[in-house]
Amino acid sequence: METAGDDRADLEAKALSDAPRLGRSDRFRFGCHPGVTCFGDCCGDVSIVLTPYDVLRMSRHLGISTSEFLDRHTILPFTKEQRIPAPLLRMGDDEKKRCPFFAADRGCTVYEDRPWACRMYPLGFASPGKGNPAGEAFWFLIEEPFCRGHEEATEQSVAEWLDGQGLSKYDEWGERYKELAVDQWLSKPRDLDPRQMEMFFTATYDIDRFRAFVLESSFLDRFEVAPEMVERLKSDDEALLGFGFDWLMFSLFRRPTMKIKDPKVRERKE
Ligand code: SF4
Ligand code: SF4
Repeated sequence: METAGDDRADLEAKALSDAPRLGRSDRFRFGCHPGVTCFGDCCGDVSIVLTPYDVLRMSRHLGISTSEFLDRHTILPFTKEQRIPAPLLRMGDDEKKRCPFFAADRGCTVYEDRPWACRMYPLGFASPGKGNPAGEAFWFLIEEPFCRGHEEATEQSVAEWLDGQGLSKYDEWGERYKELAVDQWLSKPRDLDPRQMEMFFTATYDIDRFRAFVLESSFLDRFEVAPEMVERLKSDDEALLGFGFDWLMFSLFRRPTMKIKDPKVRERKE
Protein backbone atom coordinates (compact mmCIF):
# COMPACT_ATOMS: atom_id res chain seq x y z
CA MET A 1 0.00 0.00 0.00
CA GLU A 2 1.36 3.39 -0.90
CA THR A 3 1.51 5.89 1.95
CA ALA A 4 2.23 9.60 2.33
CA GLY A 5 5.68 8.45 3.45
CA ASP A 6 6.16 6.81 0.04
CA ASP A 7 4.88 9.99 -1.64
CA ARG A 8 7.40 12.08 0.27
CA ALA A 9 10.23 9.69 -0.62
CA ASP A 10 9.22 9.95 -4.31
CA LEU A 11 9.02 13.71 -4.06
CA GLU A 12 12.42 13.89 -2.41
CA ALA A 13 13.93 11.71 -5.11
CA LYS A 14 12.41 13.98 -7.76
CA ALA A 15 13.59 17.14 -5.97
CA LEU A 16 17.06 15.64 -5.67
CA SER A 17 17.31 15.34 -9.45
CA ASP A 18 15.20 18.32 -10.59
CA ALA A 19 15.22 21.07 -7.95
CA PRO A 20 17.85 23.83 -8.11
CA ARG A 21 21.02 22.93 -6.22
CA LEU A 22 21.60 25.26 -3.31
CA GLY A 23 24.91 26.16 -1.68
CA ARG A 24 25.33 27.46 1.87
CA SER A 25 24.91 31.11 0.91
CA ASP A 26 21.93 30.60 -1.42
CA ARG A 27 18.66 31.99 -0.10
CA PHE A 28 15.18 30.51 -0.09
CA ARG A 29 11.73 31.64 1.05
CA PHE A 30 10.18 29.60 3.79
CA GLY A 31 8.63 30.13 7.18
CA CYS A 32 7.04 27.79 9.69
CA HIS A 33 5.21 28.88 12.87
CA PRO A 34 2.16 27.79 14.87
CA GLY A 35 -0.03 30.23 12.89
CA VAL A 36 0.26 28.39 9.55
CA THR A 37 -2.93 26.62 8.50
CA CYS A 38 -1.00 23.42 7.84
CA PHE A 39 0.54 23.32 11.35
CA GLY A 40 1.57 19.73 12.02
CA ASP A 41 0.53 18.36 8.62
CA CYS A 42 4.14 17.33 8.03
CA CYS A 43 4.20 15.35 11.29
CA GLY A 44 2.12 12.39 10.21
CA ASP A 45 2.41 9.29 8.06
CA VAL A 46 6.01 10.01 7.26
CA SER A 47 9.10 7.78 7.14
CA ILE A 48 11.71 9.31 9.43
CA VAL A 49 14.92 7.29 9.53
CA LEU A 50 16.59 7.87 12.88
CA THR A 51 20.32 8.16 13.35
CA PRO A 52 22.09 6.82 16.46
CA TYR A 53 22.45 10.40 17.72
CA ASP A 54 18.70 11.02 17.21
CA VAL A 55 17.91 7.98 19.35
CA LEU A 56 20.32 9.13 22.04
CA ARG A 57 18.86 12.67 22.18
CA MET A 58 15.23 11.58 22.12
CA SER A 59 15.64 8.85 24.74
CA ARG A 60 17.38 11.32 27.06
CA HIS A 61 14.64 13.89 26.46
CA LEU A 62 12.04 11.32 27.51
CA GLY A 63 14.15 10.05 30.41
CA ILE A 64 14.11 6.44 29.23
CA SER A 65 16.82 4.01 28.16
CA THR A 66 17.76 3.61 24.51
CA SER A 67 16.41 0.02 24.69
CA GLU A 68 13.03 1.27 25.88
CA PHE A 69 12.97 4.05 23.28
CA LEU A 70 13.75 1.65 20.44
CA ASP A 71 11.15 -0.77 21.68
CA ARG A 72 8.38 1.77 22.11
CA HIS A 73 9.01 4.36 19.43
CA THR A 74 10.66 2.71 16.46
CA ILE A 75 10.07 0.03 13.88
CA LEU A 76 12.92 -1.82 12.25
CA PRO A 77 12.06 -2.74 8.68
CA PHE A 78 14.37 -5.06 6.82
CA THR A 79 14.69 -5.12 3.09
CA LYS A 80 16.94 -7.23 0.92
CA GLU A 81 18.99 -4.19 -0.08
CA GLN A 82 19.56 -3.10 3.50
CA ARG A 83 23.02 -3.83 4.85
CA ILE A 84 22.81 -2.12 8.21
CA PRO A 85 19.90 -1.52 10.62
CA ALA A 86 17.91 1.69 10.03
CA PRO A 87 15.12 2.21 12.57
CA LEU A 88 12.15 4.40 11.62
CA LEU A 89 10.22 6.60 14.02
CA ARG A 90 6.96 4.76 14.74
CA MET A 91 3.91 6.82 13.75
CA GLY A 92 0.62 6.64 15.65
CA ASP A 93 -2.16 4.29 14.64
CA ASP A 94 -4.84 6.99 14.36
CA GLU A 95 -6.33 7.87 10.98
CA LYS A 96 -3.67 10.50 10.19
CA LYS A 97 -0.87 8.33 11.56
CA ARG A 98 0.37 11.30 13.56
CA CYS A 99 3.80 11.25 15.12
CA PRO A 100 3.22 10.44 18.82
CA PHE A 101 5.30 13.46 19.77
CA PHE A 102 2.98 15.93 18.07
CA ALA A 103 0.50 17.83 20.26
CA ALA A 104 -2.14 19.98 18.53
CA ASP A 105 -1.74 22.83 21.03
CA ARG A 106 2.07 22.82 21.32
CA GLY A 107 3.44 21.23 18.19
CA CYS A 108 6.49 19.03 18.63
CA THR A 109 6.81 18.00 22.29
CA VAL A 110 10.42 16.88 21.83
CA TYR A 111 11.38 20.01 19.90
CA GLU A 112 14.79 20.60 21.56
CA ASP A 113 15.77 17.01 20.75
CA ARG A 114 13.81 16.38 17.53
CA PRO A 115 15.52 14.21 14.92
CA TRP A 116 17.86 15.39 12.18
CA ALA A 117 15.25 14.83 9.45
CA CYS A 118 12.69 17.06 11.24
CA ARG A 119 15.27 19.81 11.66
CA MET A 120 16.25 19.73 7.99
CA TYR A 121 12.73 19.83 6.51
CA PRO A 122 11.99 21.34 3.97
CA LEU A 123 15.62 21.11 2.91
CA GLY A 124 17.04 17.94 1.46
CA PHE A 125 20.75 17.23 1.49
CA ALA A 126 22.89 15.42 -1.07
CA SER A 127 26.39 14.48 -0.05
CA PRO A 128 28.98 13.70 -2.74
CA GLY A 129 28.21 10.26 -4.12
CA LYS A 130 24.45 10.56 -3.70
CA GLY A 131 23.20 11.90 -7.03
CA ASN A 132 26.34 13.99 -7.55
CA PRO A 133 29.28 11.57 -7.59
CA ALA A 134 31.92 14.08 -8.58
CA GLY A 135 30.53 17.21 -7.04
CA GLU A 136 30.27 19.09 -3.81
CA ALA A 137 27.56 18.52 -1.25
CA PHE A 138 24.41 20.52 -2.01
CA TRP A 139 20.99 21.23 -0.56
CA PHE A 140 17.65 21.36 -2.34
CA LEU A 141 14.13 22.47 -1.46
CA ILE A 142 11.37 19.87 -1.01
CA GLU A 143 8.04 21.48 -1.92
CA GLU A 144 5.04 19.44 -0.85
CA PRO A 145 1.62 20.74 -1.90
CA PHE A 146 0.18 20.73 1.63
CA CYS A 147 3.03 22.78 3.13
CA ARG A 148 2.08 26.49 3.20
CA GLY A 149 5.48 27.50 4.59
CA HIS A 150 6.67 28.19 1.04
CA GLU A 151 4.12 31.03 0.80
CA GLU A 152 5.56 32.88 3.82
CA ALA A 153 7.65 36.00 3.21
CA THR A 154 10.51 34.94 5.51
CA GLU A 155 13.76 34.46 3.63
CA GLN A 156 17.02 32.94 4.80
CA SER A 157 20.22 31.44 3.47
CA VAL A 158 20.86 27.70 3.73
CA ALA A 159 23.60 28.41 6.32
CA GLU A 160 21.18 30.48 8.42
CA TRP A 161 18.59 27.70 8.27
CA LEU A 162 21.08 25.01 9.32
CA ASP A 163 22.33 27.17 12.14
CA GLY A 164 18.84 28.11 13.33
CA GLN A 165 17.84 24.45 13.45
CA GLY A 166 20.81 23.52 15.65
CA LEU A 167 22.15 21.06 13.10
CA SER A 168 25.90 21.30 13.68
CA LYS A 169 26.09 18.66 16.44
CA TYR A 170 23.78 16.36 14.46
CA ASP A 171 25.92 16.78 11.34
CA GLU A 172 29.09 16.09 13.30
CA TRP A 173 27.71 12.76 14.55
CA GLY A 174 26.19 12.11 11.13
CA GLU A 175 29.63 12.38 9.55
CA ARG A 176 31.15 10.02 12.09
CA TYR A 177 28.35 7.52 11.56
CA LYS A 178 28.68 7.80 7.79
CA GLU A 179 32.34 6.81 8.04
CA LEU A 180 31.23 3.65 9.77
CA ALA A 181 28.14 2.95 7.69
CA VAL A 182 29.75 3.39 4.32
CA ASP A 183 32.98 1.70 5.29
CA GLN A 184 34.58 -0.04 2.38
CA TRP A 185 33.87 -3.39 3.97
CA LEU A 186 30.15 -2.69 3.85
CA SER A 187 30.21 -1.52 0.26
CA LYS A 188 31.56 -4.88 -0.82
CA PRO A 189 28.97 -7.53 -1.66
CA ARG A 190 29.21 -9.12 1.76
CA ASP A 191 26.47 -8.93 4.39
CA LEU A 192 26.77 -8.72 8.12
CA ASP A 193 25.71 -12.03 9.65
CA PRO A 194 22.88 -11.87 12.24
CA ARG A 195 25.33 -11.75 15.16
CA GLN A 196 27.30 -8.90 13.58
CA MET A 197 24.06 -7.10 12.72
CA GLU A 198 23.02 -7.34 16.36
CA MET A 199 26.42 -6.05 17.49
CA PHE A 200 26.20 -3.17 15.02
CA PHE A 201 22.72 -2.23 16.25
CA THR A 202 23.68 -2.39 19.92
CA ALA A 203 26.88 -0.35 19.63
CA THR A 204 25.26 2.37 17.50
CA TYR A 205 21.59 2.63 18.52
CA ASP A 206 21.14 0.81 21.82
CA ILE A 207 23.99 2.35 23.72
CA ASP A 208 22.59 1.72 27.20
CA ARG A 209 22.79 -1.98 26.39
CA PHE A 210 26.25 -1.47 24.95
CA ARG A 211 27.30 0.30 28.17
CA ALA A 212 26.31 -2.80 30.18
CA PHE A 213 28.23 -4.99 27.73
CA VAL A 214 31.40 -2.90 28.13
CA LEU A 215 31.25 -2.42 31.89
CA GLU A 216 29.70 -5.65 33.08
CA SER A 217 31.18 -8.34 30.83
CA SER A 218 34.83 -9.41 30.51
CA PHE A 219 35.31 -6.64 27.91
CA LEU A 220 37.67 -4.55 30.05
CA ASP A 221 39.81 -7.62 30.77
CA ARG A 222 40.28 -8.16 27.07
CA PHE A 223 40.86 -4.63 25.80
CA GLU A 224 43.16 -1.77 26.77
CA VAL A 225 40.91 1.07 27.88
CA ALA A 226 42.43 3.98 29.83
CA PRO A 227 40.99 4.28 33.38
CA GLU A 228 39.80 7.84 32.65
CA MET A 229 37.90 6.54 29.64
CA VAL A 230 36.31 3.76 31.72
CA GLU A 231 35.09 6.46 34.14
CA ARG A 232 33.68 8.54 31.27
CA LEU A 233 31.91 5.55 29.74
CA LYS A 234 29.90 5.17 32.93
CA SER A 235 28.02 8.42 32.47
CA ASP A 236 29.12 10.27 29.32
CA ASP A 237 26.73 9.16 26.56
CA GLU A 238 28.59 10.82 23.71
CA ALA A 239 31.91 9.30 24.80
CA LEU A 240 30.15 5.93 24.82
CA LEU A 241 28.68 6.47 21.35
CA GLY A 242 32.12 7.32 19.95
CA PHE A 243 33.59 4.33 21.75
CA GLY A 244 30.92 2.11 20.17
CA PHE A 245 31.86 3.36 16.70
CA ASP A 246 35.54 2.62 17.43
CA TRP A 247 34.65 -0.83 18.69
CA LEU A 248 32.77 -1.63 15.48
CA MET A 249 35.61 -0.30 13.35
CA PHE A 250 37.89 -2.70 15.19
CA SER A 251 35.69 -5.76 15.50
CA LEU A 252 34.00 -5.67 12.09
CA PHE A 253 36.46 -3.84 9.90
CA ARG A 254 39.76 -4.73 11.55
CA ARG A 255 40.75 -1.07 11.96
CA PRO A 256 43.38 -0.34 14.65
CA THR A 257 40.94 1.58 16.82
CA MET A 258 41.20 -0.72 19.88
CA LYS A 259 44.03 -2.59 21.53
CA ILE A 260 43.79 -6.14 22.84
CA LYS A 261 45.43 -6.56 26.25
CA ASP A 262 48.68 -8.46 26.26
CA PRO A 263 47.56 -12.09 26.71
CA LYS A 264 50.55 -12.74 29.06
CA VAL A 265 49.56 -9.85 31.32
CA ARG A 266 46.02 -11.16 31.29
CA GLU A 267 47.16 -14.67 32.22
CA ARG A 268 49.25 -13.29 35.12
CA LYS A 269 46.25 -11.33 36.39
CA GLU A 270 44.05 -14.40 36.17
S1 SF4 B 1 9.50 14.41 16.18
FE1 SF4 B 1 8.46 16.37 16.32
S2 SF4 B 1 8.93 17.44 14.42
FE2 SF4 B 1 9.42 15.27 14.11
S3 SF4 B 1 7.57 14.37 13.21
FE3 SF4 B 1 7.42 14.10 15.43
S4 SF4 B 1 6.29 15.89 16.18
FE4 SF4 B 1 7.00 16.36 14.10
S1 SF4 C 1 4.57 25.07 7.12
FE1 SF4 C 1 5.27 23.06 6.35
S2 SF4 C 1 6.82 22.49 7.87
FE2 SF4 C 1 5.54 24.07 8.83
S3 SF4 C 1 3.89 22.97 9.88
FE3 SF4 C 1 3.13 23.46 7.83
S4 SF4 C 1 3.60 21.58 6.68
FE4 SF4 C 1 4.89 21.51 8.49
